[in-house]
Amino acid sequence: MGWTTKRRKPYTEAGIQRLRCIRCGGQAVHQWQICSDFNNWRPICLPCDVALNVLVLEWFGHPWADILIESYKKEAAAKFPMPGEQG
Ligand SMILES: [Zn+2]
Repeated sequence: MGWTTKRRKPYTEAGIQRLRCIRCGGQAVHQWQICSDFNNWRPICLPCDVALNVLVLEWFGHPWADILIESYKKEAAAKFPMPGEQG
């Protein structure tokens, strides 16, 4: 599993949880697809997914970026609680 892996079909929810994050090696929970990367699906962990969302919203200059990210973080924490965190 790495950048040479070709994956044109999205992983299933169970499948993604058996993989490591393509960026940092953490537990994957989501997947991203980049057009210039031949639209291959790439497994990604929660912190990297949140960081990517921040990056993209800020790059777009989204007027509600801060509000959207805070909401997304709360949703993510509820869905994927980290050890020691209260839902
Ligand atoms: Zn990661």
